Amino acid sequence: MAGVLYVVATPIGNLGDLTVRAREVLAEADLVAAEDTRHTMRLLDHYGLQARLESLHDHSSTRRIEQIVARVADGDTVALVSDAGTPLISDPGFELVRAAREADLDVRPVPGACAATAALSVAGLPTDRFRFCGFPPAKAAARERFLTELAGASATLVLYESSHRVVATLAALADAFGSGRPAFVAREMTKRFEQYVRGSLGSLAEAVAAGEIPTKGEFVLVVGGAPEGRADDGTLRELLAVLLEELPASRAARVAARLSGRPRKECFAIAEALRGG
Ligand code: SAM
Repeated sequence: MAGVLYVVATPIGNLGDLTVRAREVLAEADLVAAEDTRHTMRLLDHYGLQARLESLHDHSSTRRIEQIVARVADGDTVALVSDAGTPLISDPGFELVRAAREADLDVRPVPGACAATAALSVAGLPTDRFRFCGFPPAKAAARERFLTELAGASATLVLYESSHRVVATLAALADAFGSGRPAFVAREMTKRFEQYVRGSLGSLAEAVAAGEIPTKGEFVLVVGGAPEGRADDGTLRELLAVLLEELPASRAARVAARLSGRPRKECFAIAEALRGG
């Protein structure tokens, strides 16, 4: 009989957040496939659990994935874990789960902590529809495309960011979506210095730049979706025409983006066209 591949969530900071079932599955698994075995060893040690650990990360070979799939097919129970939170969510594991599904194996979740849903659950922003965006691209062109694509999305957005890029990312979000967009910063959730700040993209960008929100630790950014009442093309052109009487195109575009809920780049392109005309 084939075994089971369990996808096991682990804590995102507070070790007390490992579920009872996760402990049982980790203790009983024939193999724990871990993103970083030393990291997972500390978690297992904390609970006095013994397990056979092997590494599985984004650079693992196809052969390695095939070996794990073969073990499950032969009847072993394998538990997949990442360093923190839910595997596959901006973490390794996708190739293994896809391969196991393609082999028609039994793949079951052991749900638990996930930074995205933890932040969303306390942000006070709409949760009926949300879009998980992972880490924004680091390279300028890809980042610009990413922001342009998301600017008009009406769902609440959830982003991961590292401490050394959070200042630039909040500034870029404020610039692309309008500084008035409601947003939320969750820093170091469940840890000693956890911090939660609600504000507008503009005020949060200023708070991190000024050090009121320290750029230390781990961050999730939650951003309210684009307002539903987005101005149509005609209204936007009229608005820009009036603004252009008083302001240069870039500032007119910025104000129009904020008032209309349309992306700044789109407003700028129309402003330039109006100027040209
Ligand atoms: N698989 C994980 C999950 O389920 O959330 C995410 C792993 S991803 C490599 C790490 C990122 O998640 C961090 O850079 C940060 O954006 C976010 N994160 C993880 N733990 C966090 C925490 N305790 N507080 C705030 N953000 C956290």
